[in-house]
Amino acid sequence: MAKRQQFDVIIVGGGIAGASLAYFLGQAGIGKVLILERENQLAAHSTGRSAASISEYDENDVVLDLKILGSRFWRRPPEDFADHPPLTSVGVLSLFDVAGFEKLEGREGELRARGLEFELMRPDAVRAKVPALTFPGMGGALYAPQDGRLDVHGILQAYLRHARAGGAQMELGAEVLGLVHSQGRISGVRLRDREVEAGLVVNAAGAWASTVGQMAEARAVELQPKRRSLFTFAGPADVEFGNWPMVWSDPHEVYFVPEAGEMMLSPMDQVAMGPCDPSPDDETIAASLERLSELAPSLVPRSIRSRWSGLRTFAVDGAPVIGPDPDRKGFFWLAGQGGAGIETSPAYGQIAADLIVSGRSSRFEVSRLAPDRFPVTNAAETLAMARDSG
Ligand SMILES: Cc1cc2nc3c(=O)[nH]c(=O)nc-3n(C[C@H](O)[C@H](O)[C@H](O)COP(=O)(O)OP(=O)(O)OC[C@H]3O[C@@H](n4cnc5c(N)ncnc54)[C@H](O)[C@@H]3O)c2cc1C
Repeated sequence: MAKRQQFDVIIVGGGIAGASLAYFLGQAGIGKVLILERENQLAAHSTGRSAASISEYDENDVVLDLKILGSRFWRRPPEDFADHPPLTSVGVLSLFDVAGFEKLEGREGELRARGLEFELMRPDAVRAKVPALTFPGMGGALYAPQDGRLDVHGILQAYLRHARAGGAQMELGAEVLGLVHSQGRISGVRLRDREVEAGLVVNAAGAWASTVGQMAEARAVELQPKRRSLFTFAGPADVEFGNWPMVWSDPHEVYFVPEAGEMMLSPMDQVAMGPCDPSPDDETIAASLERLSELAPSLVPRSIRSRWSGLRTFAVDGAPVIGPDPDRKGFFWLAGQGGAGIETSPAYGQIAADLIVSGRSSRFEVSRLAPDRFPVTNAAETLAMARDSG
């Protein structure tokens, strides 16, 4: 009879979330870890489709604090972490209209106290950096010179290489079809050809995290995947644009950045949809070029070179969902990384590993991430509550 496989931790999902957790578990000496990825290749979903950027400023305070924590890692990664530096600091310029910039100035002290490093720039200085910008109603910009681009492929490989060296195993083409329940807890996973036992099953399934949560009959955490698209086109022929920073304009709902001799632009679309393999639509791209014509008319291209979309998955309050399930022992959430799951991965990967190893983390106020911040809507519990109150 085949020997039953047993692990300390099984991670469902081999994207950046699962890989970062495996890395930090390995650093903590937990090596009996199995990562299960449904696809036959790595980074087939959100992780392989990102803009690969790090832009610390964020309207969501929880995400902002995670980004600041993550940046510390990217600026000074462990010496043996990756073959190449994971971060290239090209700088990020976040543009604001007059009202937005006034609000930002009002928050300057608080943002610096949180640890955000930035300069506030007036429109003239902004246009000196990126001469293509017109934006008549510009109030100013937040310029973060240390932000920039991340080598996502190198980072994913580095997380997994170190995790494997610590004993972790990874299986591709391994879809988790169900979870094994025994005595009220989760004790393993069911694959097409076998069951595998584990002390803890981690839900790092990205856009499919709700589905895996349902398999566990866990707390019904509402997670909404939203499509975001990117496309590339030729930059202006007569301008040296390769050294421009990344430019974000929330008022125009676009961001763009030089990418390998071209420009890459996102229409900042956020179309809610079920977990799937999404693709961009012509209307979304055309509308974003209309908006670009108000921001930087000389950049509007005649044609698009390549385009793609991916899903960014959010909880209702926009913050990630990280921690043990409050209703189902043996089940742990690592989901809802939204639009910052690459840059924040060293922060939440480490926090999740802390929680798994010791039940707490001194790095972050973990109640801000915990799945029990959501009301009880688990069907079984709702029935039980209804019964109790009846
Ligand atoms: C267009 C776009 C731009 C973005 N730009 C940035 C950016 O600039 N910076 C940044 O930090 N973030 C960015 N993001 C967000 C970032 O990509 C995500 O937050 C991050 O990749 C989420 O990682 P993940 O591991 O949770 O998800 P995924 O990479 O989707 O991994 C989840 C994996 O789980 C697997 N899975 C699901 N169900 C099962 C199952 N039952 N059994 C086994 N495996 C399963 C899936 O196949 C998938 O590979 C962007 C996202 C998009 C779409």
